[in-house]
Amino acid sequence: MRGLRFIHRVALKPRHFKVYGSNLLYFFNFVATTSKSPALREAAREMASHHIGRRNGDATRFPPDPDADDITQLVLAGHSAEKHGLRDRALKARLRRAAEGFRAEEYLWFDPLVEPPPDDVPEACDCGAGNERGRKRCRGCRRKLSYMTRYRVWCLALTTAYSGESYGVRLGASYAEVLRWLPYLRPYRGPEGGANHDFYDAVYAISHLVYTLNDYGRYRLSPAWLPEEFEFLSANLSEAIARDDPDMAGEFLDSLLAFGRTHDDPVMRPGVEFLLSCQNRDGSWGDRQAEIYARYHATWAALDGLREYDWRGEKLRFPEVLPWLEFWAKGRKSRRAGRRKASGNGGGAEVSA
Ligand SMILES: [Zn+2]
Repeated sequence: MRGLRFIHRVALKPRHFKVYGSNLLYFFNFVATTSKSPALREAAREMASHHIGRRNGDATRFPPDPDADDITQLVLAGHSAEKHGLRDRALKARLRRAAEGFRAEEYLWFDPLVEPPPDDVPEACDCGAGNERGRKRCRGCRRKLSYMTRYRVWCLALTTAYSGESYGVRLGASYAEVLRWLPYLRPYRGPEGGANHDFYDAVYAISHLVYTLNDYGRYRLSPAWLPEEFEFLSANLSEAIARDDPDMAGEFLDSLLAFGRTHDDPVMRPGVEFLLSCQNRDGSWGDRQAEIYARYHATWAALDGLREYDWRGEKLRFPEVLPWLEFWAKGRKSRRAGRRKASGNGGGAEVSA
């Protein structure tokens, strides 16, 4: 409840609400509709109804010549408003028409129909200049650019496609078209003592795979659908604690809760103790000097890791992808059996993932 109130205070600040209002409204909606605790649901519902009336014109105004990014932002705002019962059919129809004018790359940095998530997309430069794929130096300030990992590119594409499809406006690709590259991200490597620089982004790719498949806390997922992700999460929660990272620990915990683990499970307990031990006095989690998005996101993640969910059964938000998940899981099983055979181990001991 103290964490929830912290995020409420963030949202009350007009300068924060102006930038993050849609995202914060998603948050209040998720807590209000998926928490098991009636008190938490009620508090989040009251906060949401207070903030929904503060949406200003910026969140709904259609610019004269929108680019793909403007359309994405308007879709996110429209989708989050719809979750609170505010519908604008005219805006949606307009967005749908405008969205068709852009290619998948303009929304997602790549076209999932023709290639896997790439590793040559530059991170946004501090100077604000946009840079095209493959560029080594920023065209604005000539600084050396770093590239997003393919995990990060895929994760952003997955959440964008999820929101677009849930709202009813295609943002470059369908959810399933992005999801089909999941096997390309496997197998996942552990932190390797800090040597694996993909580790951080792999964690968030997996947690956001869980959120988009379970509609952000609505459904439980079977570990049999995503065995490699389930094993990765179970094996590496300790790394989030070692990194003293409550945001990451929260992402591990709520993803594992979705797979059916409980707070008193021996795998989960150290993560729960860690989060309970590092809440700030103001109710937040994480670095109090960090910028506000990082502060409320860490608090959101920690809350999601600690609260209990009112699961509505074992189900997928996009049931059409189930045959793929099953096929990939089956392929993995037979690959493992093949490896066991090849190494002369007739059974018994599992080959480590
Ligand atoms: Zn630059």
